[in-house]
Amino acid sequence: MPAPAPAPTRSAVFHPLTVAAVDRLCEDAVAITFAVPAALRGAFAFRAGQSLTLRRVVDGREHRRTYSICAPAGAAPRIGVREIPDGMFSSWLVHDVTPGTRIDVQAPSGPWRADPAAGERHLCIAAGSGITPLLSVASTVLTHPSARVSLVYGNRTSRTVMFAEELGDLKNRYGPRLQVVHVLSREPRDAELFSGRLDRDRLHRLLTGIVPAEVFDHVWLCGPFRMVEDAAPCSPASASRPTASTSSCSTSTRPRRGPAGTPGRRPVRRPS
Ligand SMILES: Cc1cc2nc3c(=O)[nH]c(=O)nc-3n(C[C@H](O)[C@H](O)[C@H](O)COP(=O)(O)OP(=O)(O)OC[C@H]3O[C@@H](n4cnc5c(N)ncnc54)[C@H](O)[C@@H]3O)c2cc1C
Repeated sequence: MPAPAPAPTRSAVFHPLTVAAVDRLCEDAVAITFAVPAALRGAFAFRAGQSLTLRRVVDGREHRRTYSICAPAGAAPRIGVREIPDGMFSSWLVHDVTPGTRIDVQAPSGPWRADPAAGERHLCIAAGSGITPLLSVASTVLTHPSARVSLVYGNRTSRTVMFAEELGDLKNRYGPRLQVVHVLSREPRDAELFSGRLDRDRLHRLLTGIVPAEVFDHVWLCGPFRMVEDAAPCSPASASRPTASTSSCSTSTRPRRGPAGTPGRRPVRRPS
């Protein structure tokens, strides 16, 4: 007799969720918020930095895409989607999905787990749609009164900055505990340091000048593979290496003294 198939894990099952809101973020991106029925609240409880996998069937063929959650832990799950030209899934989400649309969604998954209880110092470096998990991390950890966040955020132009307004609201709410540094690659800014790509040289100058990397407990990186690779040496543990892909995320934590006084290191986690 064949062995019974293993039971699907919590996150492998798709649940039809109703879209509660679609908010335009900039010319090519939207935020989509899902309504979660009471019976699924436990399954869809998420930690800051986790993501959702969505399913769509077109002409009998199933397609799946993963999107990082951009809401603070405890809020309704919300994703931020940038349209990829001719992208099958992202174009549909940006143009055709409206409140009331039902979408098959898996429970949150992914290894990022920002701890809002710790009250530590976080450096976030994002480019483009890489801001989505970092917005979740920042808005979650800042609820601790002694947490501090510095965000270095690269975009092509001011018209393509996702969550510009929301970052402004967070800045108003948390004042000096949140530092946001915008860098634009195709739009001149007053200072040369803030105009150009977030490459190794510019990151080095930013992280030795206005946001010194050594004062942070955690570094969170999300953006194109090249940016994450260039920024990795700036992280305190500097042990994370992104995998080859068009985009990548990684995080590292400052090495700490273990309880017996020996140097210790928390594990480095990296979503696929
Ligand atoms: C863990 C994880 C988290 C993610 N989080 C987000 C998120 O928060 N927001 C978000 O918008 N996207 C996110 N993505 C990317 C997302 O899953 C899709 O890959 C993206 O929306 C493109 O899918 P598509 O079907 O529209 O494009 P496809 O139809 O699959 O691709 C169309 C064309 O675009 C190219 N392409 C695909 N992706 C990219 C890219 N990123 N840059 C340049 N060219 C590309 C393809 O090679 C292809 O030629 C995430 C991916 C992962 C793995």
